[in-house]
Amino acid sequence: ELVVQLDGIRKEYGETTALGGVSLEIRAGEAVAVMGPSGCGKSTLLSMIAGLDRPTAGTVRVAGQDIGRLGERELALYRRSRIGMVFQFFNLIDDLCALDNVALAAQLTGTPARQARRRALELLDELGIADRRNAWPATLSGGERQRVAVARALMNRPALLLADEPTGALDSAAGEQVMDLLLDLNQIGQTLLLVTHDERLAHRCASRLVSLADGRVAGEQTLERLG
Ligand code: ADP
Ligand code: ADP
Repeated sequence: ELVVQLDGIRKEYGETTALGGVSLEIRAGEAVAVMGPSGCGKSTLLSMIAGLDRPTAGTVRVAGQDIGRLGERELALYRRSRIGMVFQFFNLIDDLCALDNVALAAQLTGTPARQARRRALELLDELGIADRRNAWPATLSGGERQRVAVARALMNRPALLLADEPTGALDSAAGEQVMDLLLDLNQIGQTLLLVTHDERLAHRCASRLVSLADGRVAGEQTLERLG
């Protein structure tokens, strides 16, 4: 079963070719890391899969859906419900407590508030930060913020969890915790796509590495995950 199926993705920004024809498949349960130098097209690739932007050419299928055929409203629902995203700088809402940051993800897809909060609390508990549920993001450590962001990303049981440099703003101890968390999630079946410069993150969490260079897939390798 394929969760992601990219076929001949091109993306041009004016004169710049950010992606020059990328084809890539991710099977259910895989953890794939995309690596490559700055400017090679990693963020663009992520935004194509996340439905944040549309390719100039090619098709993006995620969880069996050709997202190029979705209108703007359907695409917004796709972003909120089929994929989860984790960013380098967490992107939490400053004036919502940890629990409400997580619960909001489900409320935006129509889940009643009580039910959303119940699931949010379960997730915070699973991620070991239930005791921080009422804290403001500003009072959380970097590692705690990222765990809240991961909980938020998991709220709607996404087919795919996308992570863009999830350890990039963390010190090494907090980075380790987030890596362990991503690895655990993959080991219980969560399909993952990581975009990173961090070799350790890729080798720890990913089962396959895709190297991008100048907007093209330059190589692929299977990884033996290191402990
Ligand atoms: P990476 O994430 O690997 O650093 P990007 O996907 O951000 O690479 O960028 C790939 C190329 O596309 C770069 O040359 C970048 O400057 C260009 N690019 C990315 N986004 C835009 C944009 N919105 N407008 C113009 N050029 C862009
Ligand atoms: P990252 O650290 O994720 O690689 P980037 O610096 O590549 O971040 O890009 C940050 C944002 O700016 C992205 O949304 C990207 O599409 C956009 N961007 C990157 N390069 C350009 C550019 N040359 N012109 C306009 N927007 C760009």
